[in-house]
Formats: sequence, C-alpha cells, structure tokens
Amino acid sequence: MEKRKISILGSTGSIGTQALEVIEKLQDKFEIIALSGGSNIELLTEQAEKFKPKYLCIGNSNKKVNIDGIKTLYGSEGLDEICSNKENDIILVAVSGKIGLRPTLKAIENKIQIALANKETLVMAGDIVMKKAKGNGVNILPVDSEHSAIHQCIKDISQIDKLIITASGGPFLHKSVDDMKNATVKEALAHPRWHMGKKITVDSATLMNKGLEIIEAHHLFNMPYEKIDVVVHPQSIVHSAIEYTDGSVIAQLGLPSMHIPIQYAITYPNRYEGIKTKSFSFSEIARLDFEKPDFEKFPSINMAYNAGKIGGSMTVCLNAANEEAVMAFLAGKINLYEIYRITEKMLEHHKLIQSPSIDEIFEIDNEIRIKTKELIK
Ligand code: MG
Repeated sequence: MEKRKISILGSTGSIGTQALEVIEKLQDKFEIIALSGGSNIELLTEQAEKFKPKYLCIGNSNKKVNIDGIKTLYGSEGLDEICSNKENDIILVAVSGKIGLRPTLKAIENKIQIALANKETLVMAGDIVMKKAKGNGVNILPVDSEHSAIHQCIKDISQIDKLIITASGGPFLHKSVDDMKNATVKEALAHPRWHMGKKITVDSATLMNKGLEIIEAHHLFNMPYEKIDVVVHPQSIVHSAIEYTDGSVIAQLGLPSMHIPIQYAITYPNRYEGIKTKSFSFSEIARLDFEKPDFEKFPSINMAYNAGKIGGSMTVCLNAANEEAVMAFLAGKINLYEIYRITEKMLEHHKLIQSPSIDEIFEIDNEIRIKTKELIK
C-alpha cells in the first residue's frame, strides 16, 4: 500500500507530539512532507532529524535552522506553502489559536484532506470553512475526541435526532462558585482526565471548551443547536453519542487517550492497532456516571449556545473575548470566574455582522481582543 503523505502544523504541541507518536508506530503507513512549530525550536529540530520531513516551517523567522536535505520555511507564508503543496494527502492542523484558519482554507482550496484539531477554525469561520470543504470535496476529519466519537457513530446523518456531547466536568465539577473564584492557576490546570495545553485546560475548567465544542459540532455535522445536547460524564469513557430518530443511541467508548482520535483522523477510513496499550474492559471500568451540567455555575455553555444560534460574528467575539480573558487569568490578572463576566460583557456589546468574510473575521477578532484587554484593565 502506498504511504499516506502527511504534514503536521503544530508538531511541537500536545496534539502534534502525540500524532508523531502515532506515526512512529505506523511508520510504514506514512511519509511526512512537512512539520511546523512555533517557538519550541529545539523540539522541532529534534523531530525534523528523527522524522526527516521535506520541509520544516518555523513560526519565528529570527531563528534559523539548517538541517541537510530539509528546506526550511518561515511564518504564515511557510504554512501557506505547505498547504499549497499537493503532494500532501492530508494535513493535520494542530496549531493552537486563530493561526489555524488561513492554512486550513488554503489546504481545502488545494483539495487536501484535513485532520482538524484546531477548534478556532470552525468557531470563527465554520460557515465558510465547511462550505469550501464541501465545494472542494474535502473531508474534515475531527481530532477533538467528542467529534471523533460522533464521526465514528454516524452511519446516516439524515436520520439523526440529536448529538450528545459528553463533558468530563473538569476540576470544579463538584466545587462551589466561591472555590472557582478563589482557584489558583495551578488548580485550574489540574484537569482530572486529560493532559492538554494550558489554554484548553482552563477552558475545560470553565466548561467553555464544551461551549466551543457545541459550535464545532454544529458546523462539522450541520446540526441545529437545538439538536446538540451536553451531558457531564466524569470518567471520560463515553466520548460522545448520537441518538437516531427511532430512539436508538450509539456511543463511542474507549480509555481516555488522544492517540485514538488522532489516529482515527489521520488513518481514516482504515483502522490499525497503533499505540493501543490496553484492551478495553467493561468490568474493570465497572461504572459510568452521567449528570446534567450545572448551567448556572458554568454559564459558558449557554453563552456558546446563544452565540452559536445568533451566528455570524458572534462566535468570533465569543472566541476572542474568552481567549483574552483566559490569558489574563493565566497571567494572574483576573480570577477564574471573571472569565465569564468579561466574555459575557463583550458579547452583550458586540455589533453583529451576519456573514463576515475571512478578512472581516480577522478584523473583528483583533478589535474584540483590544477591547477585551481594555475591559480587563
Ligand atoms: Mg474535546
């Protein structure tokens, strides 16, 4: 079988490094065209020497890297060049933040399949991205574990009654609002089930991550918000489920490991043994708990539903305001609960643009970030 040619944008991040672990295990299945990283040049160089991609893209052009036989590219132009290279069968977009959006669109225009780990791409521009993907016959394969679960459960999308997204509930699930207000950065970063980057871990503590995932699911599966439910499931064994019109519920289960959804996305529609370390055992797990999310303690979920239903630039506002607030929390400027207040205030005052273009989206994003920083001051 011919090797699948892949590029990884964001290879030094949490998803990127785990993707390389999957690829190392399945090395006879993949050829790496390009790796890209932001500021961790040391790790990126190490990865390049080990995996021998044709291209390496470095976020910061001040840092020069020379490795024999590898062409070094820089910044967003470098990402563009990678995403225009039709040698690629698939590109894993695992960069964090808004820098994922333009390269994803570029890859779609070049009819390259996408494994998408970057939520912002769909939260900011889901309408444009999905329309373009459809027009170019490009599959967007979700890497997010919940959306991967849904993708794995779906046989016929027209017969689905609802999507049921599970949420672990994060470290404050059974803590009080006061506990959240007094939480240190360390407590907010202590996620009970998943090891992830800092921003997404804080989002998991506030459940904003779930909010963003609702919007992501809406776009990926073209599902109205009324048909997307969230249920808290602390063990993170059921990764999400769908209910068919006849009442049948199909769920995808597995031990909490990002290797599985990453591998599913980059090897789809094939399945391989890969990094599977342990066989799944229902009796060892013994019990699975589910509960309704506390919408009052975690206002992020309804904020996301509302922003999503309004649509247009509202979700751009949600994403940018929340991210700036999370950064301020990580910098010790505000408490965890103020992330909600600030985001809410920004949403309240946002002047909606119904169908923003990509350029407008970036402008709005910029504007919201500046205003959010002012508000935080
Ligand atoms: Mg997720």
